[in-house]
Amino acid sequence: MLSDTIAAIATAVGEGGIAVVRISGPEAVMEVEALFRSKTPLSKAPTHTVHYGHIIDPQSQEKVEEVLVTVMRAPRSFTTEDVVEISTHGGVVAVKRVMDLLLLQNIRLAEPGEFTKRAFLNGRIDLSQAEGVIDLIRSKSDKAFSVALKQVDGQLSQNIRRLRHVLVETLAHIEVNIDYPEHDVESFTSDLIKDKSSQVMTEIDRLLHTAEQGKILREGLTTAIVGRPNVGKSSLLNTLAQGERAIVTDIPGTTRDVIEEYVTINSIPLKLLDTAGIRETMDVVERIGVERSRTAVSEADLLLIVINANEPLHEDEMALMEQIRGRQAIVIMNKMDLPAQVDRDLLLRYVPEELIVPMSVKENEGADRLEQAISNLFFSGKLESADMTYVSNVRHIALLKKARQSLVDAYEAADQFVPIDMIQIDVRLAWEHLGEIVGDTAHDALIDQIFSQFCLGK
Ligand code: GDP
Ligand code: ZN
Repeated sequence: MLSDTIAAIATAVGEGGIAVVRISGPEAVMEVEALFRSKTPLSKAPTHTVHYGHIIDPQSQEKVEEVLVTVMRAPRSFTTEDVVEISTHGGVVAVKRVMDLLLLQNIRLAEPGEFTKRAFLNGRIDLSQAEGVIDLIRSKSDKAFSVALKQVDGQLSQNIRRLRHVLVETLAHIEVNIDYPEHDVESFTSDLIKDKSSQVMTEIDRLLHTAEQGKILREGLTTAIVGRPNVGKSSLLNTLAQGERAIVTDIPGTTRDVIEEYVTINSIPLKLLDTAGIRETMDVVERIGVERSRTAVSEADLLLIVINANEPLHEDEMALMEQIRGRQAIVIMNKMDLPAQVDRDLLLRYVPEELIVPMSVKENEGADRLEQAISNLFFSGKLESADMTYVSNVRHIALLKKARQSLVDAYEAADQFVPIDMIQIDVRLAWEHLGEIVGDTAHDALIDQIFSQFCLGK
């Protein structure tokens, strides 16, 4: 049903300075006009203009709310339909009253993601761009936000379309060959298939290579801060949490007490495990070897082991470092503002130099070195060049892998002079898998499933 007009509250529920109701569809301007008193009637308003006025109750003719109304006419809007946005005062009451009146008009409540879905169905964005919108909403760090923004911008789509173009040309060539099967043409075609498959495979490999980093930027690096009592774990956590705004999220669908805390060290988002456990040690009672922190250690992508440089290395610490050999771990040598007591040579038996980060949490010293160490571990030292496209979506990664496999099959078949019409199937599969990323060959069920992940009003 693309012909009806939909509305939803577009801002987060709760207190805020303003709230916005978004309306999209052929009747958007007319239906809002019926409730809106302003100097210019809305139907006469030029596109992309903002109008001050009041929402009135058509029954009682009473003013319900003071608002700003923005008109964006088709096709220059997010959905490509006529879109009207009503900005009301913040808080739940004002926006709800406006919403209730709208739904008494010829307007229905939008489903989650329906605005973006319309943008997709009307051809304004493709599927990977739509998924980028979900990621934008969910991003927990600046960097994750820019990754998602590039995707919305269509950079991944452009890459994929280029690859599909190569494959479609190859398919066309194969088609001709099937129609005119002469031997020398056939061997020429085998060479062409091998050539084009490896070209596309190389590109896919390059994209897949960015996936691991994209995942980190998107979801954060799961991190556990561990160490003996009093080395400065809580202090480090608090510093990190202050440096940039720490975001605490209740992930829907999980139990209420599962809370994930995100901090960023400069631009790298860390998802901290068991911060409650660390916070509690602020109390007199220290919790050593608690079952919970042990789970945190085993789940983490990254371990930050804090030691006190003002003390000799403790046997517990040596045991811990022994135990986590082979894991991604950085040793933070804290309290460098005090005279060093730790035996560096002894420490170097357990950890390489570049993974030892001298810090003074108290003096706010060394966070940049910590970021560099993390970046060395997970980004081979260089975090993002400005035009980098990261593949970060699990669905995209799976499809890229499938496409790659089909190309491997095609290459091998061509190499063994399997009949061309058999090879054609693999090339075609690769082309289809790539098409699913941008939505050209996606099924309705998949499309519904993707858009159902959206929040209301988007
Ligand atoms: P935790 O038990 O590992 O969580 O350690 P805390 O963060 O509670 O810190 C223990 C003590 O060490 C506190 O008195 C902190 O103020 C102090 N501390 C933490 N970091 C530093 C530092 O870099 N230098 C100095 N001199 N003291 C620190
Ligand atoms: Zn503590």
